[in-house]
Amino acid sequence: MCLAMMLAGDHVLRIVAKLLTEHTREDDLPARVGGDEFVVLCAPGTQLQDATILASRLLHAIKHPVSYGKKRCIFGASFGIAIGDPSITAPSELLSNADAALYQAKADGRGKIVNFSNDMRKAAKQERALADRFMQALGDGEFVPYFQTQHDARTWKLSGVEVLARWEHPIDGVLSPIKFLGIAKQLGLEAELDTVIFEAAERAVAVLKTAGIILPSVAFNVSASRIIDPLFLQHLKLIPHEKRKGYVFEILESISYEDASQHLVMAIDTLKDMGFKVDVDDFGSGHASINSVLSIEPDSLKIDRRIISPLGKSERAGQMVSSIIELARSMNARVIAEGVDSEEKAIILREKGCDELQGYFFSQPMSAAALAQNMTTYNNRGAATAAQQ
Ligand code: C2E
Ligand code: CA
Ligand code: CA
Repeated sequence: MCLAMMLAGDHVLRIVAKLLTEHTREDDLPARVGGDEFVVLCAPGTQLQDATILASRLLHAIKHPVSYGKKRCIFGASFGIAIGDPSITAPSELLSNADAALYQAKADGRGKIVNFSNDMRKAAKQERALADRFMQALGDGEFVPYFQTQHDARTWKLSGVEVLARWEHPIDGVLSPIKFLGIAKQLGLEAELDTVIFEAAERAVAVLKTAGIILPSVAFNVSASRIIDPLFLQHLKLIPHEKRKGYVFEILESISYEDASQHLVMAIDTLKDMGFKVDVDDFGSGHASINSVLSIEPDSLKIDRRIISPLGKSERAGQMVSSIIELARSMNARVIAEGVDSEEKAIILREKGCDELQGYFFSQPMSAAALAQNMTTYNNRGAATAAQQ
């Protein structure tokens, strides 16, 4: 970090310290506990309402622009509030409750104040329990690949599947990635999770093949840490050349932007040189510059389901879809739409020139066994449209 930034940071910290002193009472205790984290331990007898008023006043004061040199700076803050009787709640628990509320406040957006609730306690406890079991579950084969079908936008014929990770938890049931991807990241085990899912999906696809079910293409979600893992590329070298075009690696739009390290770009180039396909996932969600996406030269852009969701009701969503299709055409890439949950959306997307469709209108993510069982239904989607045309 350059000296000017450090000095500016110190200036902001001093302003926050001054505001904390000005707005708290004599027997409150404000303290800085981390880089940009502060705690106010309120005096005994403080009610939740008092703490909320204090947080609102502080937030209001912090949002006020300040001058630094010739610059006008604007900064913000998020607040988590926890309240407890010291004879019942240990100080460390009170702090961790406030931390859970702060985490929620940050997740809700900028400048939020969140009170700790019992639901948060339950969620935090469940997350801790899941984190404790994660490693063991990885070894015990509880993480399994689910499959969601993808369809040709014109004919609705099956064009491939996307592999989506699920945790078949012995007590909590089938868990979605939202429950465990964060844990995998925190534990530094994201690449391991991707490996387990990839290898299990390969085995499942081979079993389907022996049953006469051929999947035209199989798409995998890959984390940045997995792509730059040399073992990943080594494993892929074992896949025969002629089969490689049937493998698609979906890379989050945000990855291409945030981690545009030489390492990552080189690994993506190697993947493509080896004959695998690379798609940009969640395209249009607003993180990446178009330049960083263009530099990857993807095979397809996968339109974020948040753009597809209002399609048919929002003119803006329709315009965004058309712009993305135009951009994709200009770079010779195909377009996949995800989150297609109605026939109306499927028809709009076909008319706009989208190439492939995926979403609840066609199928929910399912186990390999369910995919095998329902294969005729998915193929018949295509037959049904062909008959209508
Ligand atoms: P994604 O790659 O954008 O995957 C599509 C998500 O949309 C899936 O959620 C899927 O269940 C859901 N979806 C499908 N059709 C519809 C629809 O019509 N409407 C709506 N509202 N949603 C639909 P899922 O399975 O919970 O996965 C969430 C995310 O987790 C994925 O988003 C992907 O980024 C990540 N993920 C999943 N599996 C893996 C994995 O093996 N490795 C890594 N690194 N990430 C994974
Ligand atoms: Ca994906
Ligand atoms: Ca996506």
